[in-house]
Amino acid sequence: MALILVIEDEQDLQQVLAYNLKQAGHEALLAGRGDEGLSLARKKRPDLVLLDLMLPDMSGKEVCKILKREPATSRVPVIMVTARGEEIDRVLGFELGADDYVVKPFSVRELLLRVHAVLRRGENPEPAASSSFGLLRIDRDAHRVFVDGQEVLLTALEFKLLVALFDAKNRVLTRSVLLDGVWGIEADITTRTVDTHIKRLRQKLGKAGEYVETIRGVGYRFAETPGPTS
Ligand code: CA
Repeated sequence: MALILVIEDEQDLQQVLAYNLKQAGHEALLAGRGDEGLSLARKKRPDLVLLDLMLPDMSGKEVCKILKREPATSRVPVIMVTARGEEIDRVLGFELGADDYVVKPFSVRELLLRVHAVLRRGENPEPAASSSFGLLRIDRDAHRVFVDGQEVLLTALEFKLLVALFDAKNRVLTRSVLLDGVWGIEADITTRTVDTHIKRLRQKLGKAGEYVETIRGVGYRFAETPGPTS
C-alpha cells in the first residue's frame, strides 16, 4: 500500500484516479492546483506523485521541477500525465526528472502498471555489484564490462558514462546531466564531448551499443525496450 498524491484539476479524472488507486489498495491524496499539490507533497511525503501537465495556476513542469529540487521531495517519484499531442513534453518530463509518463486518454490498468513499476523501482534502489541486461554485463566492483561474454576494455570515463546511463535505465539523461554526473560540474568541456564519448562507447560495446539511444536534441538513454533511434 502506498500514499499517492494526485495533482489533477479535472474533477472527473481526479475522482476516477482516486477510486481506482483505493481499489488497488493505496491511499490517495488529491490536489487540483499546483501550489496545493506542492504543499501536500511537503507535508505528507507521498510515495508517488501523479502530476497533470496543465494545471490552472502553474504548469506541471514547474511543479515537477520544484519537487525534484527540494530535498524533502526530491526522491519522491513523479509520473507525468500529459494530453495527447504533447509529445515534446514527454521528453521534457524526463529532463525535469519525472520517472515516467502516461498519455491521456489512458486505461486505468495501464496507469496502475506504471504506478506499480515506479514504486517497485524505489524499493530496491541499491545497485547490484554486477548488473546485466541482454548481452551486456557490468561488474561494478571490478570495473569490468562484458558483451556476450567477451570483455570490453573501457576507459574509466567510459565506464562511468555507461554506469550512469545504465542506472537511469529508460530515462533520458541530458548532456548537461551527464556532464555534471560523469565529468563533474567544473569540467571545462563542451556538450559535444559527451557526443564524442558516447560514440566511442557505442563502438566499443558493439552489438550492446544499440542499448544506448540518442534522443535527438535532448540527450541519451539506456533503453530496455529499444525505440526509434535518431
Ligand atoms: Ca489539466
